[in-house]
Amino acid sequence: MQHSFWEKEIYFRQIDYVIVGSGIVGLSTGISILEKEPKANVLIVDKESIPTGASTRNAGFACFGSLSELMDDLNQHSEESVFTLFKRRFQGIQKLLSRCGNSINYHSCGGYEIFHNSDYLQYIPLVNDKIFSYTGIKDHFSTVSPSTLEEQGLSSFSAAVFTPNEAYLHPMLMIQELQKRFVSMNGKLLMGCSVHSWNENDSHININLGTTEITAKALIVCINGFAKQLLPELEVHAARNQVFVLETEQQHKLQACYHYNKGYVYFRKIDSKHILIGGGRDQDIEQEYQTNFEINPKISQYLLTFAQTNILTNITFKIKDHWGGILGLGPSKSTIIKACSPRVFAAVRMGGMGVALGSLVGEETAELVLEKTS
Ligand SMILES: Cc1cc2nc3c(=O)[nH]c(=O)nc-3n(C[C@H](O)[C@H](O)[C@H](O)COP(=O)(O)OP(=O)(O)OC[C@H]3O[C@@H](n4cnc5c(N)ncnc54)[C@H](O)[C@@H]3O)c2cc1C
Repeated sequence: MQHSFWEKEIYFRQIDYVIVGSGIVGLSTGISILEKEPKANVLIVDKESIPTGASTRNAGFACFGSLSELMDDLNQHSEESVFTLFKRRFQGIQKLLSRCGNSINYHSCGGYEIFHNSDYLQYIPLVNDKIFSYTGIKDHFSTVSPSTLEEQGLSSFSAAVFTPNEAYLHPMLMIQELQKRFVSMNGKLLMGCSVHSWNENDSHININLGTTEITAKALIVCINGFAKQLLPELEVHAARNQVFVLETEQQHKLQACYHYNKGYVYFRKIDSKHILIGGGRDQDIEQEYQTNFEINPKISQYLLTFAQTNILTNITFKIKDHWGGILGLGPSKSTIIKACSPRVFAAVRMGGMGVALGSLVGEETAELVLEKTS
């Protein structure tokens, strides 16, 4: 089908920057470009009608790393990289809040990490010191009494740490707010459209969208776990993660966000009769390196058993919703923000932390693209 003169005028003519992917990173990059260059013409394309990767399918945690996750990272990476990443997650959330304010159901409920023994508690002073020196945040983690766990229906655990700095939010409201902001700045959003191919020269890049071809200054790839489909040379591995919403017959006692086993399992309150539980990727790790959204039954069973045994011990529940999302992982936990060629840029590999990192990554990507192409 041919595009009309009007369609071409709005979507396809005199475009400066084409962003692929309308998750948190694509939208944040678009917004940051327009904040710096308000007259730029920015087009975001996404191959699906609803953004379909992780940004609208995650668990809605605003978190920076649990104690056991940080300790595990310290065993594999330098102190500087671990706490710089913590700081970047914190800064990213601050930036997201400055953009979306109160409209994303942000609940500063705090977060617990729960344990079956007290081994990790000895590391609290060390980790708190490091967090303070990198971020200025005081006493991030503190210990929790067994009675606090009991009050929340978690008496099968024997130890826990608490941080007041974690929160949960509504992922779809977050994306909706970012979409509104981008469009209000005259950004253009085209859903159901993907990039087929491109070729670039010294002055511009021609981008083939299937139905039409656009000439722009740059193409910016923000498709995280799907990055290899457009840029096969990037070290990004797609990995699935699944989530349940469970509806309880009686009121449950959860009050906040919770992490278990280095962040592999997470759960939280939605309302007095619904909880969310997700993760469990470590139960079948090799099998989960996938871009398809199918559900792994082994992991589903693990999460349901975990919920029944440890969270909703004497509470009857049924499955209300169950879905999967796709993460972008790699050999290191750092994000890829780079020029792949003079006119093609990538902002991918959020490492399962893109809610926290996405707004900051968008800002850094915009700076890189504008510096290289203006
Ligand atoms: C279950 C789950 C729990 C999570 N928990 C947390 C958490 O607690 N804290 C946290 O910070 N993060 C968490 N994350 C990770 C976070 O959601 C992601 O890191 C983040 O959403 C990635 O955003 P993105 O914009 O880079 O990619 P995505 O949100 O995946 O967006 C990519 C977009 O690109 C589109 N696309 C793909 N291929 C193409 C193509 N060829 N052409 C056009 N468009 C294309 C897709 O449709 C999609 O809309 C979780 C993720 C999941 C799935």
